[in-house]
Amino acid sequence: MKYISTRNTNPKNADCKSSAEVIIKGIADDGGLFVPTEIPKIDNDFITSLCKMDYPHRAAEILKLYLTDFSYDELLKACTESYASEKFGTEPASVKKVGDNNILELWHGPTKAFKDMALQLLPRLLSLSLGKTGIKEDALILVATSGDTGKAALEGYADIDRVKIIVFYPNDGVSNMQKRQMVTQKGNNICVVAINGNFDDAQSGVKKIFSDRAISDELLNKGIFLSSANSINWGRLAPQIVYYFSAYCDLVNNKTIKMGDVIDVTVPTGNFGNILAAYIAGQMGLPTGTLVCATNNNKILADYFSNGSYDKRRNFYTTVSPSMDILISSNLERLLCLTYGTEFCKNNMSFFCENSYFETDKNKNPLIFEKFAGISCNEDQTKETIAKYFSDYSYLLDPHTAVAIYCADLYKKENKSTNKMLVVSTASPYKFPYAVAESLGVENCKDEFECLEMLEKKSGIKIPEAISGLKTENIRFRETISSNDMAKRVLEFSFK
Ligand SMILES: *Cc1c(COP(=O)(O)O)cnc(C)c1O
Repeated sequence: MKYISTRNTNPKNADCKSSAEVIIKGIADDGGLFVPTEIPKIDNDFITSLCKMDYPHRAAEILKLYLTDFSYDELLKACTESYASEKFGTEPASVKKVGDNNILELWHGPTKAFKDMALQLLPRLLSLSLGKTGIKEDALILVATSGDTGKAALEGYADIDRVKIIVFYPNDGVSNMQKRQMVTQKGNNICVVAINGNFDDAQSGVKKIFSDRAISDELLNKGIFLSSANSINWGRLAPQIVYYFSAYCDLVNNKTIKMGDVIDVTVPTGNFGNILAAYIAGQMGLPTGTLVCATNNNKILADYFSNGSYDKRRNFYTTVSPSMDILISSNLERLLCLTYGTEFCKNNMSFFCENSYFETDKNKNPLIFEKFAGISCNEDQTKETIAKYFSDYSYLLDPHTAVAIYCADLYKKENKSTNKMLVVSTASPYKFPYAVAESLGVENCKDEFECLEMLEKKSGIKIPEAISGLKTENIRFRETISSNDMAKRVLEFSFK
């Protein structure tokens, strides 16, 4: 399996990279993202065989189709370690029936957000890739985070040999609990920095550093190369394809559906990585109907799928679902490329770079508009959904999952689809205690830890150790910088 850049309209042999190379590089030299040159196809017999397996085996079976530099045994070992019960409890990706939704809980990992599903595995794949390519330099992982990627990447890469990691987060754009998780992280190879600005500032700062030849040359001279743990790295996306197959199997196994039945899927969306993995699973042959792209007030994607216009000339809102506070969703580029080709993708991306918007004619290019439905959910609707699901089903939603549930329910009501609905749940409600407590009318907690305890009392659902333990952890990182100084900070840290 080879990979090319989404912006390379005339790839030469040397531009076609192997899986180990794309995991190491993260982003292509021309600023595009790596995509597989073809999507492997599977049939129902393949899915039937997956359904008899546990999660690590399901993961190895899917990943071996994409990560062909790795042997099946290497992949199985990496998956078995990554999804071990000490890290995820007994089920890394369990499906719960709540009302007429099937909720795929992906947040039982060490940092209590779905980012762990990929970021427990990616460091292992990177270490293997370093060995396979014979690269002599050490890796510096550069991360921009809207809250959850930062912690999950720190947890995955802390104290890993030949790797350093630096995380940039928007100072006012993450929840207190998310911030606390990052600034208390242990490990000798890490650095956590707040920037004045929002997630898009952090992400474009990081992308700029990646495409700056002077910086990469300076680093290479000192024996360091840059790599990415964001979902611009294919090594983040591939592991996310797995849980859509796994959830489908669980629905077959618990007789919610029969093999071959089509399911709809709703995904709370920010950088468009998670829902793109669902799309790719569908392209491979997983029977999926509509993919509902659920957004909060930052509804640029919902608007795009409704009217074909992707327009970032609009206000940016900070919301109770901060991990989705994004206007430039990187992985949309991969969707355009995989569906309409590199030429189409490159033209639109250059137009977008210059004009801050691009438009797709829905009649001429109907494919993605037939597959995706864009729906948004505002702040009140998010909180009302949390309250409703707690009072109706005693089920506690985090704000991101609440956005998805609201959009899924609205989609079903308006479209009368008879398909079963899978809704992806991306974080533990205890990562966002203020917003969840407020939604449930739990008032006047003096800090987030008191909120947690009051929520636990009300719901009877235990606070994860990884969250309650933060109260007594030392704060190690207090620095805030301007987004203009990110490159300087990266150099300082890497030479320390
Ligand atoms: C990252 C994140 C999202 C958005 O996922 P994308 O793959 O960026 O679209 C949604 N919810 C939570 C809790 C997240 O951490």
